[in-house]
Amino acid sequence: MLKRDLHQAEPIPEEARATIDALLASGDLFRYHAPQNAPVTLLEQEFAVMLGAKYALAVASCSAALFLSLKALDLPRDAKVLIPAFTFAAVPSAVVHANCTPVLVEVGDNYRIDMTDFEAKLTTDIEAVLISHMRGHTSDMDQIKGLCDARGIPLIEDAAHSLGTTWNGQNIGTIGKVGCFSFQSYKLLNGGEGGILITDDDDIIARCVIMSGAYESNWQKHGLDCNTFAKYQNELPLYNTRLSNLSAAVIQPQLQHVTRRIRDGLRNHDLMAEQLNASPHLSVPSPLVPESRAPDSIQFNLVGFSDDEAHALMRETKDRGVAVSIFGLHNGNARAFWNWKFLGDTPDLPQTKAMLMRACDVRLPASLTEDQVNAVADVILSSVRQIKRSKAA
Ligand SMILES: *Cc1c(COP(=O)(O)O)cnc(C)c1O
Repeated sequence: MLKRDLHQAEPIPEEARATIDALLASGDLFRYHAPQNAPVTLLEQEFAVMLGAKYALAVASCSAALFLSLKALDLPRDAKVLIPAFTFAAVPSAVVHANCTPVLVEVGDNYRIDMTDFEAKLTTDIEAVLISHMRGHTSDMDQIKGLCDARGIPLIEDAAHSLGTTWNGQNIGTIGKVGCFSFQSYKLLNGGEGGILITDDDDIIARCVIMSGAYESNWQKHGLDCNTFAKYQNELPLYNTRLSNLSAAVIQPQLQHVTRRIRDGLRNHDLMAEQLNASPHLSVPSPLVPESRAPDSIQFNLVGFSDDEAHALMRETKDRGVAVSIFGLHNGNARAFWNWKFLGDTPDLPQTKAMLMRACDVRLPASLTEDQVNAVADVILSSVRQIKRSKAA
């Protein structure tokens, strides 16, 4: 029985207290209260430098960042946007929220976009591509970027769970026109809630800043060296999806822990992957060659399992303190596309469906010790052995 709660967060760094105390004393929780250098603005500046982007805008969630990015592209109503069929329900939701229509692309059993289906679905009526790097797994960004550029259509990256991941040494989130990240508690930086978008584009940042709720001339308080703001003032709707100074004060001191969290998360993941891959019944897909990962969870496929055996594995591991979830078998899972009923008729995506029916998901926080990782692996491996042995008997 594993004693550790795999959803337990790391404590917020002690350094956050001084800023939080000052905010409590002053009551300056609104980012536009101070004329400059609000905690939200400082977080944006530091984040942009860390990722190597020109501009950053912190907002209420990654979903809000995705929504604003799509709105900033000024697409026509009902524009078709390609997204992978393996992602979190909030991603097609952001597309719908922006009055666009998501078109789902098949994802292979390595959790990455099937490029043959991508090319086939990138028809002339597609107006934008939104790549969701689900669970931090990176699809072939060279091909995707190349195809989008050739067609002259914008690429947005949902990097909610990909902070610290690189592709050919380049930060994920900086390949597309906009990159969006999450500060929800299960991501690398924990603000409880929150998100941030990065871009180098002068028009996109101005449009996003204003639509995020920079009413009147509040865009001046962002301290951005960019002269596109004035032309959009009062021209765009205000969706008021800003971040509070209190959240920024919780997130900002975690930035200096990013490198360690990436290192430890990858160490834990690879230690676990090696053990799981030694079983003939389990398979952990390899990353693509240009990809360097920053995982805080592990995904693996069951090999030669019936539905009953797969359900038995979920029950057995849960009883032993490790909640293995199988995306497609876990009732009502928000990452199974057939549960996105708000989209209307369920599209036919046999490849993604087959993957979801056997793909397991286990959280593996960077703060786990090597012994704890081994204990998690042991729960999974011994449960698999037991299920496969009882079948043989
Ligand atoms: C968490 C997550 C989101 C949503 O992020 P929020 O900040 O909760 O809106 C979107 N996409 C992916 C891949 C995620 O992991």
